[in-house]
Amino acid sequence: MPGTVTISIELELGWGLATYGKLDKLSEGRAAETRYLSRLLERCDDHDVPITFDVVGHLFHEHCAGHHGGPHADDWWDVDPGTSVDEDPAFYAPDLIEDIRSRRTAHELCTHTYSHVECDAVDPAVVAWELDRCRRVHERNGLPAATSIVPPRHGLTPSETLLDGGIRVERVPHYRARGERRPATPVRKLTEILFERHPSASPCEVDGVVETYSPEYTTLAVPYLRTGRYPPHPVYQPIPRAVRRRLHAWNLRRGVDAAAAGGDVHFWCHLYDLANEQQWPQIDDFLGYLAKRRDHGAVEIRPMRELPAVCEASEPDAVEPAEQLGIVIE
Ligand SMILES: [Zn+2]
Ligand SMILES: [Zn+2]
Repeated sequence: MPGTVTISIELELGWGLATYGKLDKLSEGRAAETRYLSRLLERCDDHDVPITFDVVGHLFHEHCAGHHGGPHADDWWDVDPGTSVDEDPAFYAPDLIEDIRSRRTAHELCTHTYSHVECDAVDPAVVAWELDRCRRVHERNGLPAATSIVPPRHGLTPSETLLDGGIRVERVPHYRARGERRPATPVRKLTEILFERHPSASPCEVDGVVETYSPEYTTLAVPYLRTGRYPPHPVYQPIPRAVRRRLHAWNLRRGVDAAAAGGDVHFWCHLYDLANEQQWPQIDDFLGYLAKRRDHGAVEIRPMRELPAVCEASEPDAVEPAEQLGIVIE
């Protein structure tokens, strides 16, 4: 059976940045994000590649009054501008969601919560409220409720809360599949980002929710090139940019190769990460390569919503997730 490739892209814009004082990572009026999303969607149609878009529910709105209630901390909605998509397009993006929906390719609209809450840092009642609000927003927009979640900043939530909210699939950092807590040291993490062979771990059902495993750091767009408007970490800058771009292209292709060797590889990034000319050409190339390998039967491309089927098809009572983490060498 061929392995699977899953691609998820976080569509959160200002919601994932404002709290951390990083709104300037976005382009002016998020024009670059709008433009690169369109280019990405065109390429996906060219190659018939479906993507899971992890959408913050608030982005569905054209406008709002700046407060949404809920059992959140009193100051939670302070970042909400309470305006409209024309005034603050980083907090409202019905046009981007419409662009995704209007394409020939059946992309998935997964949830990234309603207002980008870190699920492990709040009471489960807040997460339940957020999932309910997302369901209502989907319904108002004529969409089925999301069945997958990408929790903001890898903050996991109790599975009962997810199941009650209709969620069946969750993206989880791969170190958890190994039973580890975090990558060892910052230096170890930086070299891992550059050179680690693509980890692949089969989706696995844990307490009723199918977990799909991705690296903690972004792998579709990469941290060693410009992400949004931010330059890469200084540690990467002595390496010539052309070399870093070749490394990016090589890492993307070998991730596909790892899946072709029987693995399950999950690539991800934020929309703003890829919205520049340092990242995009390699991703463009990767989509073509991925489609070619898929057309030859080497891999399947599965959005997150289809992963329960992958999970069911794999061996019952198989090895523990920790043992499933196969590192594939070319
Ligand atoms: Zn609002
Ligand atoms: Zn996010």
